[in-house]
Amino acid sequence: MSQAAPLPTDSLPTNSGRVDLRSDTVTVPTPAMREAMATAPVGDDVYGEDPTVNALQAEVARLTGHEAGLFMPSGSMTNQVALALHTRRGEEVICAEGSHIYEWELGMMATFSGVVPRFVPAPLGVPDPAEVRLAVRHSIHQSPSGVISLENTHNKAGGTVIPLEVIRAIREVAHAEGLPLHLDGARVFNAAAALNVPLAEITRQFDTVSVCLSKGLGAPVGSVLVGSKAAMGQAHRYRKMMGGGMRQAGILAAAGLVALRDGPHWLRDDHRRARTLAEHLVEAGYTVDLEAVQTNIIYARLPDAAAKAQGWAEKGVLANALGPDSVRFVLHHQITDEALERAMKVLKG
Ligand SMILES: *Cc1c(COP(=O)(O)O)cnc(C)c1O
Repeated sequence: MSQAAPLPTDSLPTNSGRVDLRSDTVTVPTPAMREAMATAPVGDDVYGEDPTVNALQAEVARLTGHEAGLFMPSGSMTNQVALALHTRRGEEVICAEGSHIYEWELGMMATFSGVVPRFVPAPLGVPDPAEVRLAVRHSIHQSPSGVISLENTHNKAGGTVIPLEVIRAIREVAHAEGLPLHLDGARVFNAAAALNVPLAEITRQFDTVSVCLSKGLGAPVGSVLVGSKAAMGQAHRYRKMMGGGMRQAGILAAAGLVALRDGPHWLRDDHRRARTLAEHLVEAGYTVDLEAVQTNIIYARLPDAAAKAQGWAEKGVLANALGPDSVRFVLHHQITDEALERAMKVLKG
């Protein structure tokens, strides 16, 4: 069996049989989501007439402490629309090294907005506010800074959390320098769960926030950008330019509303299981930086990562080999304690 073999489709609501630790995007919709999708009132969202989309946008705005929200197909789109909102051509995007907006968004900041990244060091995904300040450019001899963008949790650093006091200090830098502050909050619900604070305590510090419904919250599709009413009005135009006008999108937004209601309750268990798996991997001889295991993501170092992952896949355990000696495991609500036990037996061998 190859790693590319199709996942079973006849075993809803979970892909039982396999333990899929590749990402928290692999979850399938719960029965409650399916039901909400089947019965959702809908309209043409490009005209702003889909009541379920409007309800979802209002709910994310409320939870994050912002004025308005805009539903989009993906987190890449919400991030790139935000960068378009905040910048002009030739400007720089100040961001933590390894940021998704650059590493995994295919140069879109350059092709769509005409801007370039300026990275700041970010040990464990956390930039030092002093380094952020040093990265700001106002000279006429250099590309001016357009926006500061943070990522919480930081995917490539291992799902790591930015402490609230660091966010506040970077907020002050942004304010002092007259720069907007964006958050790639694909997993900001994981950050709030790890910090044990209400979501808005994190998200209120930013001018715009991109929130994914299709990661740990388990929705099948979608992200929401939040910010001021005026910013979201403009964002609507950029969303249309990128091909993100979705018509009767209430079918998807309905699942998103269920994800917002149910998803946050799952995250602490995902984090607990990630910790259990990480400790197990260390015992089994893998190299894992346990300090970086703060939420639902684990990076392990081991030789011949791709071959190892292939071997596990043949035994029904899927993980992502992301480099010659690096494998990523991601926990999500469709990995139960029992499934984790099974996975750990395979990974030991
Ligand atoms: C998944 C993810 C996104 C958005 O990805 P899409 O696949 O475009 O929805 C953005 N930022 C981070 C940190 C992510 O992990």
